[in-house]
Formats: sequence, C-alpha cells, structure tokens
Amino acid sequence: MNLVLMGLPGAGKGTQAERIVEKYGIPHISTGDMFRAAMKEGTELGLKAKSFMDEGALVPDEVTIGIVRERLSKPDCQGGFLLDGFPRTVAQAEALESILEDLGKKIDYVINVDVDKDILMARLTGRRICKSCGATYHLVFNPPAVEGKCDRCGGELYQRADDNEETVQNRLDVNLKQTEPLLDFYRQKGYLKDINGQQEIHTVFEDIDELLKGLNK
Ligand SMILES: [Zn+2]
Repeated sequence: MNLVLMGLPGAGKGTQAERIVEKYGIPHISTGDMFRAAMKEGTELGLKAKSFMDEGALVPDEVTIGIVRERLSKPDCQGGFLLDGFPRTVAQAEALESILEDLGKKIDYVINVDVDKDILMARLTGRRICKSCGATYHLVFNPPAVEGKCDRCGGELYQRADDNEETVQNRLDVNLKQTEPLLDFYRQKGYLKDINGQQEIHTVFEDIDELLKGLNK
C-alpha cells in the first residue's frame, strides 16, 4: 500500500492521514518528521538539511530527495507508506518515481482530499480568539453562543492577522498554483484519486477506506 496524500490547507488531510495509518499500520511519512529524524540520527543528508535550515534557507531538492530515498528504504516501509507533504513539485514527483523504481515499488494511489476554495476560505478564516481569556472559537465548527462574545468570560472575540481573508487567499493561491501541475502529473499516470473532502470527516474516511480495501488483499 504505497500512498501519497494531497490536499490544500484546511482540506482535513492531517485527520485523514491519522486515520489511514491507524487502520492500515503503514508509516506516516511527513517531510517535517523525516527531516527531524534524519537530523537526530545525524546522517550526512540530515546534517546537510540542518545547515540549510539553520540559515533559514530552503533545503535544496537533491537533499530532500536523498532523505526521502533513505526513509523509503527502511524496513518499516516494506508493507507500504503514506507520504504527506512530499512531493510538492513535478520535479520531486519524477524523482520519487525513480526512487520507487530503484526500490522495486510503485505508487498505488495519490489520494487528493478535494475541497472547493470557497469552503476552504470559510474554514481557514473562521477562527476567533477571546481577547480576555484566549479561548478559541470557529464560526463554522465551534461558534460562540453570542456573535463576537466569549462563552466563557464574555470577552470580545478577534481574528488573528494570519487568519484574515487576504493572507489566507494568498496562501491558498500559492498552494493551488503549486499543486495543479502535480495533480495533472499524477492524473496522467493514472494514480490520482479525488476524494470529496466536503463531507463529514468520517464519510471522507469511509470513501478513502473503500478505495484502500481493494489494495489490502
Ligand atoms: Zn474569554
């Protein structure tokens, strides 16, 4: 079960990743975790990555790809893996194809948790925080009883600058622009499976599960 999980910010990818690895017992390989592990182990590539990150620079592709190669070669990936946050570009996707070919593996599915941009906007801009006690609310998922007021202390609710429409819109646009060529790449390969992420969390997982059951023979 060799999987890549994709989804824009706010699509609920993280929750689905947790459920997939819990049910199917495959390792969840996120870029951040992979970098941290390589640095902790002090591998040559891990140290290289660290030197870039310490300078606040982007880790170059060759280093990232090398770390992915090391990680996918580990014994716990024998029965499969869930890649999350990699690849981010078509160049990385091509590198992944060649890594997997060397390892005698191939991707089974690229699962794309698909949610309309308008809905992502509502999800990502909905957070409100109490000025007095710091309690957090969400206009869609956890609204306060009285608009603009904290249930706990009656304090005034505000929106963090990170959550405002313009910032979120920019973040989504950057992600969309990056993701689209990657989705096309995987669509052409026949790996891409769009999952409707606009349903209840458990229904989204049921759809993914239905897809994966076919593999788990
Ligand atoms: Zn409060």
